[in-house]
Amino acid sequence: MTDGRALAREFLEQQRLLGGDPVIFSQTGSPEPSPQADGRTGGQADGNTPPRSASPAVRPSAPPTELPPPGISYDPPGGDLFSNDPVPQAVSLEAIAQLVASCTKCRLCEARRHTVPGEGAPEARLVAVGEGPGRVEDETGRPFVGPAGELLTKILGAIDLPRERVFICNVVKCRPPENRLPQFDEIAACVPYLFRQIEIVKPKVILAMGGTAAQTLLNTKQSLGSLRNLVHRFRGIPLIVTYHPAALLRNPNWKKPTWDDVRIARRLIG
Ligand code: SF4
Repeated sequence: MTDGRALAREFLEQQRLLGGDPVIFSQTGSPEPSPQADGRTGGQADGNTPPRSASPAVRPSAPPTELPPPGISYDPPGGDLFSNDPVPQAVSLEAIAQLVASCTKCRLCEARRHTVPGEGAPEARLVAVGEGPGRVEDETGRPFVGPAGELLTKILGAIDLPRERVFICNVVKCRPPENRLPQFDEIAACVPYLFRQIEIVKPKVILAMGGTAAQTLLNTKQSLGSLRNLVHRFRGIPLIVTYHPAALLRNPNWKKPTWDDVRIARRLIG
């Protein structure tokens, strides 16, 4: 595939993901506005929609030619292999899942129906981390199912990473009641599982989705907005911060910056 075709394909995928206007590509490869379904090329005929300018209303954002500057580097100590703690000694994702299944280290065990340790490829090049299980996840024991999960699957597909080739998990493995934010002590109790999962998978890139994941993996209280557009490091692994898919469902305006973020992640994966 030529670079031009690859760019066109990426742009069309972006449009599909973001729900933008349909476009057609001229023979020169330039995107042109397409006629609307009723044959109009502007929005003035119905008297409600403001007229469009002569230039295309939607243009592909140029692929980033440079990576964002470096951000935070966080290198938490590993678990003690010689302690009685079984987490650092777990050698597989299945072993972690078994430990999570019987875990009572925090109050979130009390109302859970299923633990949700995470799922995906053990050799994944991307680990995507969210906040905690929601209602459907608690019912199924699987991360990112339901509407937010469907959107995440689309986002991953748009960067040529089928969901099954990614390891997807959350900071806490049991559902917080009423979908509240996990509390500090709950995160502190649960995060050794996440850190060990990342150690086992050894991804090329980590995608932190939402403020809780970003702040936990970078050991910071900075806002999500200030953490975006930087290449952070978690134990040396590049880490990109973006919005949580559930937030995108509430605020579609964040889809475009999310697209920018995941494309940076994709470039880092290579
Ligand atoms: S949230 Fe984590 S630490 Fe708390 S009970 Fe569940 S698995 Fe254990």
